[in-house]
Amino acid sequence: MDNLGPAPEMIFGNYMAWKLDEKTWVISFMEGTEYLYLLEGEEKALLLDTGYGIGHLRAFVEKLTDRAVCVANTHFHPDHSAGNGEWEEVLLSEGWTVDAPSVCNPGAGPCDLSSLPYPDYRKTLLHDGDVIDLGGRRVRVLEALPAHCNSSLFFVDEGHRMIFSGDEFESHQTLMFDNSCNPDAPYHVEKRIANLRANAVRLREIAGENWYLLPNHNGTPISLAYLDDYIRLADEIFAGTALIEDRLNHRFIEMDPKAPELCRVRCGSCSIFIKKKELMKIYGSQK
Ligand SMILES: [Zn+2]
Repeated sequence: MDNLGPAPEMIFGNYMAWKLDEKTWVISFMEGTEYLYLLEGEEKALLLDTGYGIGHLRAFVEKLTDRAVCVANTHFHPDHSAGNGEWEEVLLSEGWTVDAPSVCNPGAGPCDLSSLPYPDYRKTLLHDGDVIDLGGRRVRVLEALPAHCNSSLFFVDEGHRMIFSGDEFESHQTLMFDNSCNPDAPYHVEKRIANLRANAVRLREIAGENWYLLPNHNGTPISLAYLDDYIRLADEIFAGTALIEDRLNHRFIEMDPKAPELCRVRCGSCSIFIKKKELMKIYGSQK
């Protein structure tokens, strides 16, 4: 008997899956708070994100589908792409190089990436307007403007009325402080908030009636109404009227050394975490 707590794979790699529709799987981990997606076409399947690289995700996925699986990243953060090395090739944004230290620096995640089968996997870049054809199911790629991070892609599945939004839009909070771990990564707060707004407007214009957002954290699918709230949130930030809460109310983020610098900014049903000092550059004065 020991008291070392649960093994890492019990936290980072205990995958469970359920069907969202006949051809779409949600794969959850991190105690059900984080998701990957598996989209099946007639010929191929598309796996969006690879988790932390713990717990044999590839074997799990290959039990769900008998199609050949191609793999893409919504963005290059460790909980989304550290497991890429289970596959020979991964499709990703060219912005991955900016966010790379968050995944590749020693100790960035719980997994030793060199222990994966393909640590030097092939990186194939996706660009705005690219289409991934799975056979009877086409998934369009949109490049996000840098907001949550520098490497986000949106995946639009018109036939299934789904937009996969990564970490750029979700129901609880979008993290808007820079967590690329790259000291040279560009972070201009006004630009980031403007980009958040522009991304929301673009998705709103693309989406039809009864579409859904499928984020990677904290509940899926969610209503497109969250996009409207994010647009309003950006407007209220620029007007200096958005509600600022110093209490984060987030068990994991509160453990982060930068937590004391952060605040939550809320509008309607959405909110962001951001460094208060950065936010105050927009507000112009301490509130
Ligand atoms: Zn992220």
